[in-house]
Amino acid sequence: MDTLKKNRFIREFENKVEDTIKKYHLFTKKDKVLVACSGGKDSTAVLHILKKRGYIVQAITIDALIGNYTQKNLENLKQFCKENGVKLHIISFRDAFGKSLCYIRQTLASKGTKLRSCTICGILRRYLINKAAKRLNADYLVTGHNLDDEAQSVMMNLLRNQLEVGSRLGPKTGSKRLTSSGIFVQRVKPLYYTTEKDVIIYSKIMKFPVNYSPCPCRTSSYRNKVRMLLDRLEKSDPKIKLNIVRSFSTIIPELRKKHGNGVQAFCKKCREPSKGDLCNTCNILGKIAG
Ligand SMILES: [Zn+2]
Repeated sequence: MDTLKKNRFIREFENKVEDTIKKYHLFTKKDKVLVACSGGKDSTAVLHILKKRGYIVQAITIDALIGNYTQKNLENLKQFCKENGVKLHIISFRDAFGKSLCYIRQTLASKGTKLRSCTICGILRRYLINKAAKRLNADYLVTGHNLDDEAQSVMMNLLRNQLEVGSRLGPKTGSKRLTSSGIFVQRVKPLYYTTEKDVIIYSKIMKFPVNYSPCPCRTSSYRNKVRMLLDRLEKSDPKIKLNIVRSFSTIIPELRKKHGNGVQAFCKKCREPSKGDLCNTCNILGKIAG
């Protein structure tokens, strides 16, 4: 790509992200925005654009202590934040739980609870980020979910006959009412309409210090199968992911009316949002302690 083309791509990509923020009223330049970063291409791209376009932004990352992989990602993220003048908050599994992800997974497995690494990591990560977002008084929590991630989630819910789970999808999830009472910081996805392919191109043009290889703990999951299926279909119909997300977005309001936004109750132990008496995190921590 020559310089002229590169510059046009950068401008169009960044405009698309900012258009999404404005069109869906994700947040404004007066809001304190916290970006959940992994050191990967998606969260780094969104962090860079928000900073560049003048939003009030800070970064947060959870170190799950997965050996060299997370160590390298953390170094990359530290370097990026330093060079771009972004305040970075780091929370490690060891400080929060006293254990690494691998230890937690193995201990659970030895007690008969076979959960995938990605499931455990996702639950514990969301818990820590939600708590930190409240503590830091963030108005919104930004995640790096892109169009591919969202299309996969919609298809997974559809194929499993769990569309009601999708009431938590969309460019903006959670509710302002809950935010004001300090229970759940609203999550927003500025990359909602950008494809994974475009994020990779953008990240490479910008020469972000990011690792493009997947997490070594990623197991062959259902999401992977759906990812491969959509990628294959996309070859004959380039708009397929956009079509999935667009058609699903028309029924999100109905799903929310019927099923709420996923937060009905609070954990008896930690007071974080939970479906049952105990939240998933307290369940996991209870099992590895006992
Ligand atoms: Zn709990």
